[in-house]
Amino acid sequence: MPHRKLMGLQAPAEREQAYREQTLKRLQGTAVEMGVTAVMGSVVALLARLLIPDPEFIALRVALLPLTALFAYLIVYAPSVRAYGWCCMATIATVSLNSYLGALGTDRPLMYFLPAAVIIVLTTSFFWITLRQWIGGALVSYACFLPFIIDHTASRTDTVFSLLFAGMALVTGFVSHMRIQDSQHRAFEQECRLAELSVTDTLTGASSRAEFLQQAEKAAVRARATGAPLTLLYLDIDHFKRLNDGHGHAAGDAVLRGMSDVLKHSLRASDVFGRLGGEEFCVLLPDQTEHSACALADRLRLLLAQVPRPDARLTVSAGIAGMRTGESVVQTLHRADLAMLQAKQMGRDRACVDPL
Ligand code: GH3
Ligand code: MG
Ligand code: MG
Repeated sequence: MPHRKLMGLQAPAEREQAYREQTLKRLQGTAVEMGVTAVMGSVVALLARLLIPDPEFIALRVALLPLTALFAYLIVYAPSVRAYGWCCMATIATVSLNSYLGALGTDRPLMYFLPAAVIIVLTTSFFWITLRQWIGGALVSYACFLPFIIDHTASRTDTVFSLLFAGMALVTGFVSHMRIQDSQHRAFEQECRLAELSVTDTLTGASSRAEFLQQAEKAAVRARATGAPLTLLYLDIDHFKRLNDGHGHAAGDAVLRGMSDVLKHSLRASDVFGRLGGEEFCVLLPDQTEHSACALADRLRLLLAQVPRPDARLTVSAGIAGMRTGESVVQTLHRADLAMLQAKQMGRDRACVDPL
């Protein structure tokens, strides 16, 4: 589940980093198309130049083509956002240089180079991950344009015309880049939010049932591999219906949230707790035996008694079951549930270990 990586990214810097990494992967997926476009563009420009007298640097321009392809290919393997930026800039540099060489020896080099300058800045606006990269890309593509702009042999009309088009392309490219970044950021934020929602119980903030079971499966695989114990603690609030019936569901919801807060603050970082449904929670305790889980259950019962409940002291019945060799998580959970039911039968407000 790739979205799991997006959860819990609270700090803006962490979120930005995750956004950039995700964007990097997405853009790397289109690197082949980008490379083909860059090489094809250069080939077309090269062929077009053959139609104008005195073509120069043909061999050098042909030699630049595999270099363009190589830099574009390296984009796929760029290990970081920064490396990606450099690979993209190197690709553009070879394309721009190719156009520059093609423009040399023509009677209106500005006009020859202009389409490349405009097209590069416009078409690349979507593949820069940061504003700094966009600026770098624009500088690289316009660097080859500059000699023709400051060339005094060019006509005033060509110079003004070129500057106008290049300026318009620059502004349009910048706006496109910012708009694309903005919409991608929004999509990323939504994805983070959906990732959270898909694994969290919205009322209590505990893991959802599906997420809890998935985490439990993973912990079971680890426990089987290492031989470490893994114990499940099933918790069910006593006489919860009575609270709802007497004080309304809002009061019941508040108690559920209070219980979730207690669990959140009392468990180890490696423990996972989920709301299985209604007023039933389950705690996954890696590396804990049934014996230590019993001690934890007693501690939790004391802490939970502090959660305000309008009609009575909050008590829970707990069932404990350690995973046995060859047993599935569902089977362990079932035994923890049976142990919890036994605690109910014995008068509630207590913890029982699966007797079987
Ligand atoms: P016991 O001590 O045997 O566990 O009795 P109980 O009343 O706690 O258990 P029972 O299964 O009879 O009732 C559970 C109640 O939990 C019934 C249901 O209305 C309530 N419930 C389920 N989900 C929610 C919820 O999200 N919010 C609230 N407020 N109540 C809920
Ligand atoms: Mg129940
Ligand atoms: Mg109950």
